[in-house]
Amino acid sequence: MNKKLFATITCVLFFTMMKAQDADSIRRKHIEDSTNALKAKPTELWSPEPPIVTPGNTPQDAPSDAIILFDGKNLDAWRSVKDTTQPADWTVADGVFTVNKKGGNIETKQRFMDYQLHLEWREPENANFKGQEKGNSGVFLASTGRGDSGYEVQILNCYNNKTYVNGQTGSVYKQVIPLANACKKPGEWQTYDIIWTAPRFDAVRNLASPARVTVIHNGVLLLNDFELKGQTRYIGNAYYTPHGASPIKLQAHGDKSDPLSFRNIWVRPLDLNQH
Ligand code: MG
Repeated sequence: MNKKLFATITCVLFFTMMKAQDADSIRRKHIEDSTNALKAKPTELWSPEPPIVTPGNTPQDAPSDAIILFDGKNLDAWRSVKDTTQPADWTVADGVFTVNKKGGNIETKQRFMDYQLHLEWREPENANFKGQEKGNSGVFLASTGRGDSGYEVQILNCYNNKTYVNGQTGSVYKQVIPLANACKKPGEWQTYDIIWTAPRFDAVRNLASPARVTVIHNGVLLLNDFELKGQTRYIGNAYYTPHGASPIKLQAHGDKSDPLSFRNIWVRPLDLNQH
């Protein structure tokens, strides 16, 4: 056999073997994939399917299943806290509403357990005061009665304004220091996106599971599933008193700053039992 013929035969044999090896590895890969697919099946869930929710044009816009608490027109979804038979008497104009300090706190007519809440507020520009006296308001995640009873996530002008850190914007008032100060300048609109898990109480009215809250301020995480110690207390430590579904409340604080304004408020009640 001459050298040329030998080389040709060697080449042919080599490529034939390679091809056979390729086919074999493809076959083995196919069997392996099929086996993995079979093993993966038992951990795949196909029901219940999550409901379809159509998002708004921007993350600030209400999704299709949200309850609109303020759409720029009226305060029909709200009532006075002082006298819950009376309407909320804060001022609505130009698509926003403004705190009426004399009118006192307002709360939603509807009661909620767990929810996702979006709200927007604007601090007054001419608040020539300091600390807690500078554009103070707040959102009570469950209003448990008159005045400031409930669980307050603080709203305050904390742009270049020092105060005790467990009382600044994004704190659960006097319970926790927020992870950041994300306040915008007064006069600019700011957003809160809040996930609230209401506390649960057992049949004999003992605490079964504490409240939890996540707060995102202007897109910045301030509280990450914080476990509350109880209802907000101005004096002394927080503690729980039993309650069920509750309104959401906004604070008319007695400071001397000009009042804050709010707009675009919506809420999505959550059924956490499904998970
Ligand atoms: Mg406050």
